[in-house]
Amino acid sequence: MTTFSTVCPEKNSEVRRILGRVRCPSLRRLEELLAQSRAEPLGLPELAELFEIGASTEASTQFEMLRSFVREQWRGVDGNRLRYVAPIYVSSFCVDACPYCNFSALRKETVRRRLTIDELDAEIGAVMARDARVIELVFATDPEFDAAELVRYIARTVDALGDQEGSGVLLCTEYLSSETYRELSEAGLRGIVQWDETLDEDAYARWHAASPRKREFRARMDNQDRALAAGLDVATGALFGLAEFRYDALMQVARARYFAEEYGRGPFVLGTARLKPIGGRELRLETCVSDRAYETALMVYKIAVPAAGRWLQTRETFELNLRNMLDGDVFTYRCGDVQPGGYGAAAVVPLRGGQFGVNELERDFVDRELAARGFRIDYEWMSGAGAWAAALQSVSGS
Ligand code: SF4
Repeated sequence: MTTFSTVCPEKNSEVRRILGRVRCPSLRRLEELLAQSRAEPLGLPELAELFEIGASTEASTQFEMLRSFVREQWRGVDGNRLRYVAPIYVSSFCVDACPYCNFSALRKETVRRRLTIDELDAEIGAVMARDARVIELVFATDPEFDAAELVRYIARTVDALGDQEGSGVLLCTEYLSSETYRELSEAGLRGIVQWDETLDEDAYARWHAASPRKREFRARMDNQDRALAAGLDVATGALFGLAEFRYDALMQVARARYFAEEYGRGPFVLGTARLKPIGGRELRLETCVSDRAYETALMVYKIAVPAAGRWLQTRETFELNLRNMLDGDVFTYRCGDVQPGGYGAAAVVPLRGGQFGVNELERDFVDRELAARGFRIDYEWMSGAGAWAAALQSVSGS
């Protein structure tokens, strides 16, 4: 079985070669590139030129031209749809030690919790009462959750949702075996969410050397291959700020296109997480990803992988998300304070128990602001397995 780790060295060399000679496009060149993108998928060298706009402080006109282009293409005056995912945090116990995460085993002051099945029921009830029908179960690297326990929690969530059209269960946890993914698929799981953090192997090692499970770069990199082979859908993405953003963004495009070529379906969404301080602590960022760079990455993702949409983050401000949202994006305005039991108000211990800082919003406010910009939220968007991502099959430019 071909997996991404077998093609990654070649992609890595290609991307580094491209980035070594790329230049920020002139206005005329940008016009050419955008016109070309209407006719065919842009290759990695051309996409690298677009990403370069985010790295240049002197490309404000190009940046605005890029924004006008993606809005014209994928943001109507009305009728835009955002897909909603309700994350339910199940466990904050973790053996790993990512410095950017409040669940790190090294953070002794974090208030930790593991939901029982009854407590899971309560959280499912809380999100379903708010109309959510696509639920993402979120675990840290918690040894208590072996395959049998994951099956139990997933099956319970599938049961609670019933066979309602558009509903589904997603899973975010550590990397798992092919056999486990087959069991989870049989239990009704629809897809997995995993951010690669960074595909820059040296940077990955610097951030994850102290994590006993997560430091296995290749085993984790091939996680989506195992899930796809088991019939599941996948999300992928980089955590911007761990390495150079143009490298990470270009590698994610290469990865999305690899999935489409290898499995006939690409990721259903591209993650857009950006490193932020957590719980008032400052992180020593290796690379600061400015708003300009971040927003450029989001726009170029859309041009590169139009069927995937982007997952707009509650780590970012609502204002930034409003500026960037496009038809088909995933947008979540409540995350249960990114901690187990977070949807039950009495259980919340802000910051001390959450994975990272988020901007939680009230639905009425969100609905009003979105409606004013021609957007509405779709809570029941999941179709047949792989269906929404199959369109990527045609997006195979290298
Ligand atoms: S990012 Fe995941 S693996 Fe790393 S410490 Fe947090 S929960 Fe654990």
